[in-house]
Amino acid sequence: MPELIIIHAISLPPERFGGPGVEQLFTNRLDPAGHPYYAQIHTLRVSAHYFVRRTGETLCFVPPEQRAWHAGVSSWRGRARCNDFSIGIELEGCDTLPFEAVQYVALAGLLADLCARFPITGITGHSDVAPGRKTDPGPWFSWMRLRRLLTDAGHGEVACQVEPEGRAGGDEGALMHWPFPVGARPA
Ligand SMILES: [Zn+2]
Repeated sequence: MPELIIIHAISLPPERFGGPGVEQLFTNRLDPAGHPYYAQIHTLRVSAHYFVRRTGETLCFVPPEQRAWHAGVSSWRGRARCNDFSIGIELEGCDTLPFEAVQYVALAGLLADLCARFPITGITGHSDVAPGRKTDPGPWFSWMRLRRLLTDAGHGEVACQVEPEGRAGGDEGALMHWPFPVGARPA
C-alpha cells in the first residue's frame, strides 16, 4: 500500500505546455523524431500515476494501487526505492514558470482523495527524495499555497502531511499570479 505521495513537474518539450509529449512518454509512445530532445529520452521506461495538465485536467496512467516508475534512485525517512511505496503525481510545469491556479485546486482535490483511500503519512517533492539529482517540482511550486488550499477546504489533516516548507521567493512568485495582489493576500 502506498504511504507516500511524491509531487513532480514535467513538460515536453521542456518548458512547453499543452502538447501530447508527456502522455506519450508515460505510455511509452514518445516519437524520437518529434523533437530533438525526445531522441535522448524516448527509450526511458518511466511512468507516473497521475498527470495534472495546465488546465487542471487530470489523467491517470497507472492505478494508485500499482507501482509506477517515477521516483528513480530515492530515499525517504531512511527508506530507499520510493517507487515501492509511493504514488507519483506529475504537474505540467517546469523550474522557470509559475504553476496555474487550477493545477493547485486539482492537486489539492486529488491529494485529499488519495489520503482518504490510502495510509499516506507524507507528501513531498521529487527533489526532496532525490536531492542533488532532481529539482522538480521546482522553485515556483508553492507548498504554502497547497497547504492553505487544503486547510481552507477542510482537509487540515492532509495539509499536515505536506513536508517541504518551500522557498519564500517561490511562494511570492506563485502568489503574484493568483487573482489577488500579493499585498492583499489572505493571512
Ligand atoms: Zn520528478
